[in-house]
Order: sequence, then C-alpha cells, then structure tokens
Amino acid sequence: MSKKPLTPSELTELIAGLNRLARNLWWTWNQESQEIFQELSPRGWQNLYHNAVAILHEVSDYELRVHLQNPDFAERVQRVLANFDAYLSEKNTWGKANAAELLKNPVIYFTAEFGFHETLPIAAGGLGILAGDHAKSASDLGLGFVGISLFYREGYFQQSINQDNWQVDYYTQLQPKNLPIEPVLDKNGEPLICSVQMGISEVKFKAWRVNVGRCPAYLLDTNLPENEQHYRDLTLRVYGGDSTTRILQEILLGIGGVRLMRALGVEPSVFHMNEGHAAFLALELVREKLALGKSFSDALTFAKKQCMFTTHTPVEAGHDRFSASLMDYAFKGYLGHLKMSLDEVMALGRVDPKDKDEPFCMTVLALKAARSANGVSELHGQVSRHMWQCLWPGVPEDKIPIGHVTNGIHLLGWMKGPVRRFWRRRLGVNGTTPPATPGTVGASTDFWSKTSSWETAINDPAFWQKMEDPNFISDEEIWALRYKLRRELIEFARRRLLLQGRSLTQGDFIAFDHLLNPDALTIGFARRFATYKRAPLIFQQLESIVKLVNDKQRPVQFVFAGKAHPRDDDGKRYIQQVIHLSRYSDLKGHLVFIENYDIHVARTMVSGCDVWLNNPRRPLEASGTSGQKAGCHGCLNLSILDGWWREGYDGTNGFAIGDDSHPASIDEQDRLDSENLFSTLTGKVIPTFYDRDANGIPRKWIQMIRRAMVTLVPQFNTWRMVQEYTTKYYVPK
Ligand SMILES: *Cc1c(COP(=O)(O)O)cnc(C)c1O
Repeated sequence: MSKKPLTPSELTELIAGLNRLARNLWWTWNQESQEIFQELSPRGWQNLYHNAVAILHEVSDYELRVHLQNPDFAERVQRVLANFDAYLSEKNTWGKANAAELLKNPVIYFTAEFGFHETLPIAAGGLGILAGDHAKSASDLGLGFVGISLFYREGYFQQSINQDNWQVDYYTQLQPKNLPIEPVLDKNGEPLICSVQMGISEVKFKAWRVNVGRCPAYLLDTNLPENEQHYRDLTLRVYGGDSTTRILQEILLGIGGVRLMRALGVEPSVFHMNEGHAAFLALELVREKLALGKSFSDALTFAKKQCMFTTHTPVEAGHDRFSASLMDYAFKGYLGHLKMSLDEVMALGRVDPKDKDEPFCMTVLALKAARSANGVSELHGQVSRHMWQCLWPGVPEDKIPIGHVTNGIHLLGWMKGPVRRFWRRRLGVNGTTPPATPGTVGASTDFWSKTSSWETAINDPAFWQKMEDPNFISDEEIWALRYKLRRELIEFARRRLLLQGRSLTQGDFIAFDHLLNPDALTIGFARRFATYKRAPLIFQQLESIVKLVNDKQRPVQFVFAGKAHPRDDDGKRYIQQVIHLSRYSDLKGHLVFIENYDIHVARTMVSGCDVWLNNPRRPLEASGTSGQKAGCHGCLNLSILDGWWREGYDGTNGFAIGDDSHPASIDEQDRLDSENLFSTLTGKVIPTFYDRDANGIPRKWIQMIRRAMVTLVPQFNTWRMVQEYTTKYYVPK
C-alpha cells in the first residue's frame, strides 16, 4: 500500500511539532525521537553533539520539507509526536494516584546544578546529574514538580590536557538560541524580570524555562544590561569565582527562586533544598511572614513547615561556610527588609548561636529551617546523624532526625541506544505504547497486560526479574550485546584520542587499531577527580598491573576520564599521574584517559566497560551514582562498600573491595584498600571473566550480569527514589 505525501498544512504542522519536541528534553530519553533528529542530519548529530535544537537550525526549511515528503519518515515523525503528546497529556499517572495535591501545589526543587543532557552543560558532577534525573523521573511519574537552578552561560569548564599532562580549563559561551531553553515572559510578552538585594544593590534577573517532560525547570540569569558587570557575571560559571561569587549565587538561587515562583503565581507546598546551596530560600520565607507582621518564631515555624533538605556529602569542603564579614557585605540591603540583625541571621547558620567566631554554615541553616532532612544512602544517613548530632544536644545519635533516601538514576536517560532497542525488542514494542493486542510476544505479554507504558515497564522489578530466565534471554544474546557495547566504547575512545591528538605525536605513536583490545576485560573509572575518590589507587601496584595488561591469555585494560575542579591542584596531579602512565609506562595502549568527561562520555563508558571501578575513601562517597548506570548495560561493579554499593552488593551481583568496616587510619585504609582491590581483581574478577565454555561464553560472568539486573536495576533508579521522596517526605501520610 503506497502512502500519500503530506499536504502543505500537514507539513507545517509536523515542522512545528519537531520544533516543540526539540525544546522538550523528553526527546533525550525517547529512542525514536533521537533517531529522527539523527537522521535529519547524521553529520550534525555528531558535530553539534546531539543537539536537536541546533540541528533544526542547521537543516534548512527546504531540506526538512524534503525529508518529510518521504512518507515513511513522515509517518515516524507523526508517531513520535503522537507519543509525545500522549505523554504530556497522560492523566493516569502515579503522581495523580499518590500525590494529587502536588499537582495543584507542587514541590519546588532547588539545586545549584542540573545535569540534563550533554548539550546543556550546567552541572559539575554527580549532584547535578542526580538533580536532572530526579526531575526526569518526577515527570515520568506525573508529579507536581518544578526545578530551580541558575543559567550559567559558560557552564562548567571544558577540559583539555597540555604538554605537561596538566589539566587546562577553558570555557565556551552557551548560545540560548541553540539550547532547549526558552525565556520566561510576563503577560505582556516581555521577559519577566525579578530582583534580589545583594550587598547594597538591587540586582535584576530573568529566567529560562527548560521543559523536562511534563515538568518545568527554571534557570535564573542575572545577565541583564541594567546590572553592573560583576552582577551580570554572577551567572557565568558553575561554582566559578570566589566565596563572594558563591554567596551571591546562593542568594540568587534561594531568594531569587522563591521570588520567581511568587511572580509566576506558583503556590508551592514543599521547598526541597537539594544540598545546602539553596538554604537562603528559608530566609526569604521568613521575610515574607515578618512583612505580614508575624513574629520571628512564627515566621520560622511557618518556613519550617514547607522546607525539606537533602544533604549530599560528608566531605568538609562540601559544606559552604561564610564569615560574618562576608555575610554582612552580602546581606547589607536585605537585612533591612528582613528586620533582623546580622547576629540574628548568623545564629541561624551556627551550631552554637552564641559563638561569635563560628562562620555561617549553609548546611546548619538548612537543617534548622527544614521540617525533614535526609542523606543519600543508608550509611550516609548514619554518618550525617553523627556529623550533625551537635545540633541536637542530648539526643542520642540514632534518634537524630536525619533519615535517608538512597540515590538512583533515570534509567531511560542513561541507557545507551542499542540497549534501549534491545530491551524494547524483548518487550515486544516498537513505539512507546504497548501493542494493542498482546499475545504475540511470548514472555512479555503477561507483562504488558498489567503495565501501562514503556516507562512503567522498564522500571518494573517484574521485568528485570525475567533476566534470570535463559528462555527469556540467552547467555549468547547477552554476550553479543556486551561485545557490541565494548566495541562501541573502544571505537569512541580511539576517535577521541585521535582528536585529543597526543597519541600521534612525540614518538609515542600507537597504531590506531592497537589502542585497546575489543576482547580484553575492560575496566572503567570516570567521575570527578576529587582526591577522596582516589583515582590512581589501582596503579599503586604498578608492576603487577603491567603484568595483567600484558597477559596474552587474559588481558585487562583501563579507560579513565574525569575533571578536577579548577582550583583542585591535588586532583589535577591525579589526572597527570594517570595520563603519564597512559603515555610513558608499559601500560601504554592498555590505559587511556578520555578528556572532557561529560554525560555522553559517561554513558559510553558505563555501557562499554565490563567492570566499573569505584574506590573512594569510605565513608566519603555519600552515595555515588555512576555505578548504578552500569547495571542495565551488563557492566559489573567492583567497588568499596560505600554509599549505594553497600546496600546493593549481595555477593552474587558484582564485586566488593574489602568489607563493611573502617580501618584505624587513612594510611592504613589506603594500603588495605589497594591490597584488597588487587586481590579481588586477580582472585575473582579476572578468573570469572575468562572462565569460558567451549563456545567462548563466560557462563558464570553472565550469571552475575543477570543477578545485577535482577537485584540492582529496579532498585537503584530515580523511579523508585522519587516515589520514596514523595511518600516519605513530600506528602507523608
Ligand atoms: C554519573 C555521573 C557522575 C557521578 O559519578 P559518581 O561516580 O557518582 O561520582 C559525575 N559526572 C557525570 C558526568 C556523570 O554522568
């Protein structure tokens, strides 16, 4: 049956639809949408780094129409748009059934960084990635949810490496017109302008809206001609500048965020502070009540009824502290409105309100101003209760009111394309909606009959439970998928290294196809190069590691990536060490460092590696999330029992380094962890990976992959996490 070409008005409608789609991040976790943008311009897809908005700018109107004149392509676009609209208008959601009150009075989620997608690089690390994943799952669940952050027009820094293997930071300007953001307008169609007091100035700001599926996120931006330059530059960079920049950014986020909600007429029920950066929002809530003539204690009680707080790190430097003189400078104008003295404000951020030498701590303010608080894993909950016991004198440690919700990841957003297609075929679906007549797809039919959508299905433990069944999916299929993903990573790494240009210079030439081996056990490590994460730990036993990589029968290889904060020279030294080893030691060709770690690099690595290495100095990794991204791709974790892995590991689903205990000293800990890492690697990981049957299939290894899928994937995702936040904290029953 031949299909009819579209009429001009149908064409115009589809083009408008594609533009709408490109400006809603939903497309980033919808396979068919991605394929459409990729097909529109395969080269643009590569060169513009998967930026749908930019691709639509690049492809001419004429070219777009020609594509859409192809009835098959047009039909796919129509189907995607229908799925998109169905998603947006879905009434029958988990949120409606379980937290309907939030649809009217949403949760406002404040975060200093949001990691949504590689084209909007306004996150520095795991905290921002988690915030982005939280928002995506809030959307999938149909929750009343609004995100607040800042629009950093130079984003987080880009990383390159110089001749001395030293990290060089550089910045590029983000172009709003090429981003999935749109200006927030007032009722006259002009940019909506609000203001906050900073020092003695009134600083104006505007906002950008990001559509995260059904939920909006607003990014505040002081880059307005009416502001002095240093205020315009407040929103230049993620965690840029000094402590003055930091405090002013936090005033903008917390106080500005509340004001934007008021200006938009949003009536929040909960203010969720994702980390202490946002805690000044509580001052604004207090100010509002004081302005209505309430007493300070009533105002604070009122603020406290609406705020909740998630703390994310036991690392000291992760808790912002400001001196009294900086607070005085930053709040000079605001204090007049607040009708409080500096001392009274300082008291809110001090463990001991009377200690005049104690700086103002954002975490202390958040804990004092929130009705509930939580850490991000069970162990981190314990550690936080211990850390902040000082705020509840006389209360036993286990009664300190800090709970925990273990972090997760947004599964669909992290799944690499081939894996999404793989699971979709398993589920017997082509589009986002289930087949109309179940009954043809074997094991998946019963499944579809009780779930309503692909989002629900892929997050359902019942689906992952099937991975234990070799009739549902065979070892051979899993192993073939692993090969495909490893190969993709290796080719990606080779391309990147070629671009990085260093493997081809200075006599350290490595023939392109000798860089990494598609058959070798591939171990990945990528995250911020904060020193507590101990990136080079594994290379402490260099000679032994060299033997392992050169073992012809059972080779091992390493892929590393990660950025150190621009002011963290120790972190940069770790990077230097790893790169030096990759170029000048006998690890050459078996160890690569991929520059400019970001979401795309992360996705490629967690999917392509066989083993995901994580060796933080316990208990400093509050949760960690990168290892959670590994599970659905069949990559196994090899990790210290810290954060989420302490809860996830069950002896069958990956590998533990050491045990559930704390050594006496840091030196002792580093030594023990390094030994345990090496012995687990050589005693368990390598033998299991290379234990092959006559067909070359590692049955035991694949059994572990199955166990990881059954036990980890349905648990450590934001579908579960956001539900837990909702029932425990947003709308406790
Ligand atoms: C997941 C992710 C992180 C967090 O990794 P951890 O191992 O939890 O520290 C950081 N950066 C990027 C780009 C990520 O994708």
